[in-house]
Amino acid sequence: MSSFINAMQNHHLNDFFQNSLFSSLPASFFTHLRPTPLPSPYLVAFSEKMANEHSVLFNRFQETEAVEIFSGNKIPFTANPLASVYSGHQFGVWAGQLGDGRAILLGDTINKYQQRFEVQLKGAGATPYSRSGDGRAVLRSSIREFLCSEAMHALRIPTSRALCITGSDQYVFREQPETAAVVTRLAPSFIRFGSFEHWYYNRRHDDLKILADFVIEHYFPHCRDEHNPYQALLIDITRKTAELMAHWQSVGFMHGVMNTDNMSILGITLDYGPFGFMEAFNDSHICNHTDQQGRYSYKMQPSVGNWNLHALGQAMLPLIGSVEETQIALSGYSTCFVAQWESLLRSKFGFSIAHESDKQLGEDFFSLMQASHADFTLSFRQLSHLENEISPKDDALLDLFIDRESLKAWLQRYRKRLALEDSKTETRQVSMLTSNPKYILRNYLAQNAIEKAQKKDFSEIAKLLSILENPFDEQIEHEEYAKLPPDWAKDLEVSCSS
Ligand code: AMP
Ligand code: MG
Repeated sequence: MSSFINAMQNHHLNDFFQNSLFSSLPASFFTHLRPTPLPSPYLVAFSEKMANEHSVLFNRFQETEAVEIFSGNKIPFTANPLASVYSGHQFGVWAGQLGDGRAILLGDTINKYQQRFEVQLKGAGATPYSRSGDGRAVLRSSIREFLCSEAMHALRIPTSRALCITGSDQYVFREQPETAAVVTRLAPSFIRFGSFEHWYYNRRHDDLKILADFVIEHYFPHCRDEHNPYQALLIDITRKTAELMAHWQSVGFMHGVMNTDNMSILGITLDYGPFGFMEAFNDSHICNHTDQQGRYSYKMQPSVGNWNLHALGQAMLPLIGSVEETQIALSGYSTCFVAQWESLLRSKFGFSIAHESDKQLGEDFFSLMQASHADFTLSFRQLSHLENEISPKDDALLDLFIDRESLKAWLQRYRKRLALEDSKTETRQVSMLTSNPKYILRNYLAQNAIEKAQKKDFSEIAKLLSILENPFDEQIEHEEYAKLPPDWAKDLEVSCSS
């Protein structure tokens, strides 16, 4: 904890919680309100990295005061908190009005790279958009969101970030009683596809235009000069979303609830719920046990990204002006996805140039992982350690597969492919080891940290965070955290309840 205080004291006093840009929108976009105080809050976890990046944010407070602020109990005088309204399609069905039902935007902050971030408290109490929810988040899901946000950032995947978790002994009821927590999370903007859909389905095209103009002005200023700025905006969102989907697929990340209200217009990973990382590879894997149809399974994610963009395109139609121009904007999706996916795969396989045989070779490796239910992360990590010539080191990879003979045959083809570009073992290994992580947030690792935290031992969260902040490093002393999940972890289920 002392480093939390240090991180807060070390830096110059500067702007703190500027009024959010978002609050410059008309009053119909949000409701100003104060968070509901969290009884006797305490610090559960914080990211020193984030505290340092946002030094200007933290220097003013002692720990007690910071805990009060990040629990929503004390409002900095420069903040004017609000909850925003949006709508969305959930599991393919129009769900009508939603909104920040438990997240409250405190204000904006500028980090030390002069980037502006919105600061939200998730779990800070009910809002006019809570419907029947209690406005709270449980400690379990808060720990998962906190760790995964920072893990994804370290994997170089666009994401909202997390600064800290505060907890309380107050009970909230889900499938069972659990204690409440608040995650402080940051993103340049939390505007969603569903924010656009909200005004479209309410036939408020004036507000739809205000939202689009706001998004262009602050996040896509280059679109202003295009002949159809709204079409240019949709082209950019399409590209960013396609790239995000390719990134998710490349590390086996499954979001679990890709509803349009959880899709960021900036193409960042948003709203961590029943997410999971692929372990034993199965492209039909469903990480959210509430999703019985597998709409959001691993293999569906790229096409759902496209489906969600079409929902956004529909909402932007009145601005873009024609079905044809909207369609043109959306049609860039598969090209962008494939380009990003192929580039990520080249890095994962250690190829420095593209070759026509790569597609088949890559697909065959995925089929082998599927047939053997080989661990996704370890398979690519062991492939990275391989020598360019057959060697005893092959065993570490072969041991992950049931069908060793088929993998051996594949390895022969792989080595021939490497020879085509005069690949050198050492340079290839170095580059592959920075593309294929050793450490991911496995469900059982999160579960261990959660169970300790539920007994007020928060040390495992801090330890896991420090490991996941450097997912490509060997960290020999933490070898245990890179191992296959234990047997008990096979029954772990993650639901929407959070
Ligand atoms: P999610 O699927 O978690 O993104 O949530 C869908 C919608 O339900 C969002 O508008 C959330 O703000 C809202 N929501 C989820 N959990 C709660 C809760 N405990 N209290 C109030 N609103 C909630
Ligand atoms: Mg959500």
